[in-house]
Amino acid sequence: MDANSELFIRLGAAVGIFLALALWEVFSPRRTLTVGRARRWPSNLGILLVDAVLVRLLIPVAAVGIAVIAAERGWGLLNIARWPAWLEALIGFFVLDLAIYGQHVAFHKVHILWRLHRMHHADLDIDVSTGLRFHPIEIILSMLIKIAVVILIGVPAVAVVIFEVALNATSMFNHSNAAMPQWLDRIVRLLVVTPDMHRVHHSIKRDETDSNFGFNLPWWDRLFGTYRAQPESGHEGMTIGLPIFRDRRELRLDRLITQPFRNDAGEVARAPRAQREKAG
Ligand SMILES: [Zn+2]
Ligand SMILES: [Zn+2]
Repeated sequence: MDANSELFIRLGAAVGIFLALALWEVFSPRRTLTVGRARRWPSNLGILLVDAVLVRLLIPVAAVGIAVIAAERGWGLLNIARWPAWLEALIGFFVLDLAIYGQHVAFHKVHILWRLHRMHHADLDIDVSTGLRFHPIEIILSMLIKIAVVILIGVPAVAVVIFEVALNATSMFNHSNAAMPQWLDRIVRLLVVTPDMHRVHHSIKRDETDSNFGFNLPWWDRLFGTYRAQPESGHEGMTIGLPIFRDRRELRLDRLITQPFRNDAGEVARAPRAQREKAG
């Protein structure tokens, strides 16, 4: 598969899924948004554009291109033995998903990485656009990690394309403000991370922020003990975001870009006492 058709498949799928989820949110919202779309969407979509341009500029060959090269040269564990193509693709998909889970945990536990990732968490509402809101440096690091996994494991190109499309789709789905009946959520979250499951991860409470790291498959959280079924204050009552960056000006595109480089301790220390205690 050439780079252009890969881009076409990914873009087409992403735009279609985005529009479908946006409509779902409008007609059947899960929560009342506190800030709403008009102030957030230009920045959340703007940062997506910055990310896309930067990755294309700085990383000339994406993960799928590396997969083609790895297969030609016999790199990676899966290229040592000849296994059925579907089995290699399946293993590749699972390993990539586990790597993204591990990466997400690291972005929470390592302070310098958390500074990059917290911009994703600083959104004051959570909806389909939040699923596209990541700092450009996080996106570049994530791409390099995926490339490393593809080289080490020898993930087939088709598995990389399926994984990228799936991750994009599930990220938009599990951030969406789309209401789903409880019984359906219970079934769907056995296979894929649902909006109710990922919303816990966007809670202002740190122990909830540090749970439900999965983006795609929900099993890693259950396996590694980071699973939380529901937020303590309920989906309607919970506060979305972080104790810092609660000023609505922080939703501007230029602020999103500079958040990792600003002094977080200073922000909390300067906040009024009542707010500091609430942030606790
Ligand atoms: Zn996170
Ligand atoms: Zn998220």
